[in-house]
Amino acid sequence: MSIKIALAGNPNCGKTTLFNALTGSNQFVGNWPGVTVEKKEGKLKGHKDVTIMDLPGIYSLSPYTLEEVVARNYLINEMPDAIINIVDGTNLERNLYLSTQIMELGIPVVMAINMMDLVQKSGNKIHIDKLSKKLGCEVVEISALKGTGIMKAAEKAISAAQSKKKTVPVHEFAQDVEVAIKSVEDKLTGTVADAQKRFFAIKLIEKDEKIVEQMKSVPDVSYEVKALEDKFDDDTESIITNERYVYISSIIGQCYTKSSTGKKLTTSDKIDRIVTNRWLALPIFAVVMWIVYYVSVSTVGGFVTDWTNDVLFGEIIPPAIESALEAVHCAAWLQGLILDGIVAGVGAVLGFVPQMLVLFLFLAFLESCGYMARVAFIMDRIFRKFGLSGKSFIPMLIGSGCGVPGVMASRTIENDRDRKMTIMTTTFVPCGAKLPIIAMIAGAFFDNSGWVSTSAYFVGIAAIICSGIILKKTKMFAGEPAPFVMELPAYHWPTVGNVLRSVWERAWSFIKKAGTIILLSTIVLWFLMGFGWEGGSFGMVEELNNSILAKIGSAIAWIFTPLGWTNAGEGWKMAVAAVSGLIAKENVVATFGMLFGFAEVAEDGAEIWGNLAAVMTPVAAYGFLVFNLLCAPCFAAMGAIKREMNNAKWFWFAIGYQCGLAYVVALCIYQIGTLLTGGGFGLGTVVAFVLVAAFLYLLFRPYKESNSLKVNTKSIA
Ligand code: GDP
Ligand code: MG
Repeated sequence: MSIKIALAGNPNCGKTTLFNALTGSNQFVGNWPGVTVEKKEGKLKGHKDVTIMDLPGIYSLSPYTLEEVVARNYLINEMPDAIINIVDGTNLERNLYLSTQIMELGIPVVMAINMMDLVQKSGNKIHIDKLSKKLGCEVVEISALKGTGIMKAAEKAISAAQSKKKTVPVHEFAQDVEVAIKSVEDKLTGTVADAQKRFFAIKLIEKDEKIVEQMKSVPDVSYEVKALEDKFDDDTESIITNERYVYISSIIGQCYTKSSTGKKLTTSDKIDRIVTNRWLALPIFAVVMWIVYYVSVSTVGGFVTDWTNDVLFGEIIPPAIESALEAVHCAAWLQGLILDGIVAGVGAVLGFVPQMLVLFLFLAFLESCGYMARVAFIMDRIFRKFGLSGKSFIPMLIGSGCGVPGVMASRTIENDRDRKMTIMTTTFVPCGAKLPIIAMIAGAFFDNSGWVSTSAYFVGIAAIICSGIILKKTKMFAGEPAPFVMELPAYHWPTVGNVLRSVWERAWSFIKKAGTIILLSTIVLWFLMGFGWEGGSFGMVEELNNSILAKIGSAIAWIFTPLGWTNAGEGWKMAVAAVSGLIAKENVVATFGMLFGFAEVAEDGAEIWGNLAAVMTPVAAYGFLVFNLLCAPCFAAMGAIKREMNNAKWFWFAIGYQCGLAYVVALCIYQIGTLLTGGGFGLGTVVAFVLVAAFLYLLFRPYKESNSLKVNTKSIA
């Protein structure tokens, strides 16, 4: 007989550690809540017929967050044979809140109290016999990290599953509440499984709309709800929550003894006094990040990346392949495809990898030791002011290296609105691949002035802030950022295996995603550029002007006329370059190079600065830069957005918003900039001023919609 056992518990309570210990698998364990969003499955060591599921960490079974929905749907729809409810023994009170709900699911439950090594060290005592009696389920003390007690917990779960004895909550709510629950339970007879009646009844009384969507037939419970609300003078959700807390404090009072020495400050607390200090927090963070970027971009990572780009994919591999191809008398077009298409494309991606490995190594270290959780906490004070959560900061930070892992990192944000907003805005931060574009524009038009790159970061950040403010005022995003309930885990030294695993996971998904898509797109671009109509027939072309790409570029160039990409009839080159940037931002400089007839250009495109200056005014060029910064990112990052949004409508909204914003800002820069630098006044200028006015209105109009919406400020702290 096969048995399914689910691991359920609060974020950071040690589920993944236990999962790895029980199944012998190698999931990444982050000292950063929310790392596990997808559920993961494995076989219990030595028991081929027992499957263990690692569910996302959750604080409750209310559907406030994506994790809660994922975990809850699994528990009520799949009905595992048993649940191991993992409870962080150092944080009993908060953890039991979820336990009270898990007991109601009608599934056999075994409670595993984890982190017992820490509990014992602190001298506190948990009386498990009493606890077991008060909860009505088996309780086992374990340490997932040290491996003590874990097999016992698994065996208890197996026998609970085999005996099929559903855990029945022994605690009762206040009498009136119980009466209401019983009455709703009666109405549910025949529509849900008997064992699940209590869970559904309570959720209906709590007016949980997401549960209603899942039920075939929903009984009318307005009578019970109204009776309770009149009686307690509160809404039912608060009544039930309150009941749970009353029950929990009675358990804590009887089953938990705090040692008299337990109140001393731990080392972690002492570090936090400095690291999260009101005045020191930001400077310390700035220094940490400066070191991370200095090492990963400027020194070690930069050095290895340069070597990969210039030597490995410059002097070693291409000539070797070229001579090999010549030796076998390869056709010219195939040689072009392999060398200019595939090798150049793969090289461009792999060149970034060393730099990224070093960056990921640092980030994994900071994440596993517990510092990233503090960063989110520190940044929350600032981000909250313009409607984002502190957790949005990590994706943006990672996004400054590459948007793909940046967008993926948004997964740690539980609140749906905050996460969507972060996914939409993260790629405004200039990523590594946009830096060459900045260098090119700065070199060709602005005498290499440093303010160009500084302003690029400023534009990115301003776009994030303004988007935050504007979007929060729309119905879609209305409401306060979710309360910051993330817990600050104790600092500890990460294990080498854990850090390397995280680096590998991130790097590999980058190589895989970016590698496939960029490879494909360079081949497509190579084809579009190399083929076309010349001398009346289709084939390989000598003149780029005759290529398919030039035809497409000319066809869409009019769209960009208001942005000033028109000079000397060469506007299509800018359009083509920008479009090739949608495939990969690395392409933009190289595309310009090819369009101006250079087979190869330096990273900042120094060879073509003269050509560029001839076809764009400086104002249009700056607009071009901003357009590339803000518009939809590369295919790989768009793929990440699609995956994280997990919804076609939201994906297109995000892409549309980004492109629209890029277009509008670039238009305003060109039109108003041209006016200010002595250019003419025309229809475009009027449009630009109207757009600026509309923008200011959206930015400063009062929050109207958000007040009328019910805002969820309930925090389970
Ligand atoms: P999850 O979020 O519930 O999956 O928790 P993780 O498995 O990622 O663990 C969170 C942190 O707690 C990690 O840093 C683990 O090393 C640590 N941890 C897990 N179990 C124990 C334990 O029994 N004792 C101690 N001291 N630390 C633990
Ligand atoms: Mg986990």
